Amino acid sequence: MNQLSRLPSVSRLLSDAEVEALVDSHGQKVITRLVRETLADAREAARAGEAIPDSTDLIAKVTAAARALTLPRLRPVYNLTGTVLHTNLGRASLPEAAISALVTAARNPCALEYDIEDGGRGDRDDVVNDLLCELTGAEAATVVNNNAAAVFLLLNTLARKKQTKVIVSRGELIEIGGAFRVPDIMKRAGAKLVEVGTTNRTHLKDFREAITGRTAMLMKIHTSNFAIQGFTHSVPERELAELAHAHELPFVVDLGSGTLTELERWGLPHEPTPRESIEAGADLVTFSGDKLLGGPQAGLLVGRKDLIDRIKKNPLKRALRVGKITLAALEAVLRLYRDPDRLQERLTALQQLSRPEADIRSAAERLLPSLRGVLASLPVTVEIVPLRSQIGSGSLPVDRLASAGLAVRPQGKKSGVLHRIEAGLRRLDRPVIGRIEDDALLLDLRCLAPAEESEFATNLAGLSCS
Ligand SMILES: *Cc1c(COP(=O)(O)O)cnc(C)c1O
Repeated sequence: MNQLSRLPSVSRLLSDAEVEALVDSHGQKVITRLVRETLADAREAARAGEAIPDSTDLIAKVTAAARALTLPRLRPVYNLTGTVLHTNLGRASLPEAAISALVTAARNPCALEYDIEDGGRGDRDDVVNDLLCELTGAEAATVVNNNAAAVFLLLNTLARKKQTKVIVSRGELIEIGGAFRVPDIMKRAGAKLVEVGTTNRTHLKDFREAITGRTAMLMKIHTSNFAIQGFTHSVPERELAELAHAHELPFVVDLGSGTLTELERWGLPHEPTPRESIEAGADLVTFSGDKLLGGPQAGLLVGRKDLIDRIKKNPLKRALRVGKITLAALEAVLRLYRDPDRLQERLTALQQLSRPEADIRSAAERLLPSLRGVLASLPVTVEIVPLRSQIGSGSLPVDRLASAGLAVRPQGKKSGVLHRIEAGLRRLDRPVIGRIEDDALLLDLRCLAPAEESEFATNLAGLSCS
């Protein structure tokens, strides 16, 4: 017990110059709490037979705890996973135009629901309504929290009436990850699902035969995160639209990703656009703001004005609406699409997706010495390798983008060292997120901008893999 009396008191530790400096930056309350907790831990450890730490050790512990407490939980990472629109890493990085717009909106009052012309109340959807109509050819538009919310609101507005049903092809009843399953969303929205066709083939007559007096709509869902190959058939949008309209039903499309431009122009595979669906006769189209569009998290609904008006009147719209920061960023991103010639240089997501392989390979050449340097004492080799990046967020699952990066491989048979390095990279000031595949730790450099490279190397120098 007299061992324990060698521990300094709370007030002794608090009067130490280093701890006083911590109080200055983090506040009295937090540091007093951390000092108490550190002393309590030391006491408990001493009772368990461990050595009594000296003041220097204790202060180092308080300092580390204070640092850990002030690091933001939502902190930036380096996405070297090879998946550009990575849902778990926040999907699209915003372009500068959107960042400055959202900062301005955050800092100031703005005309969110205020009509500057007549001084009366406005509608927050007006911030982006005209732009969305211009870019998609739709009559009207509305915005909610994400595309899952858009689909939910659409179904809840148009198919909730007792006994009405939504007809969907069985091959499109998808799960998007993060628990978005089309049948579940339908049920929660109060809509009843009628599945038609088979997993691989659905024909127009399957839809035709399923239509009854209780049908609420025909729906097409873009099967974004998988591809069925071989003996397949799905019904083109135009035919579904004609069939729906012949029965005075709406035809709606959940596009999922949905971009507002022709991606082929930048050597990327074609992804269906809302404009194509509208031109094919869709009455409503929903898509995400933070997938291929390259904007903030949002769900966009575009289409017939009478249907959009009904959706806007649903009380749940109020619960699913977006805030001014999202709208400011979305408006800025949509504006960029007005000038396709300069879209690639301005829209971060597109820049990353269309980055040439040779360019990524030169980044790998520049960064190879840094990574070799920090791993020099470990039994691994580091090499430049060709890689394949994915678009991510369920887009174009079969298309892989030619990329390059660094591969760390164990010298012996044991791959435990890779997991230690991978964990070490995650513990850096700015965590570096790669992937382990085929006994190699792979760092795909597509999403590391050249301007970030020197900061990346400095950050890497802090690596410890113990
Ligand atoms: C991604 C996706 C959704 C969900 O969109 P969020 O914006 O993530 O809510 C819905 N449907 C399809 C087809 C999708 O690809």
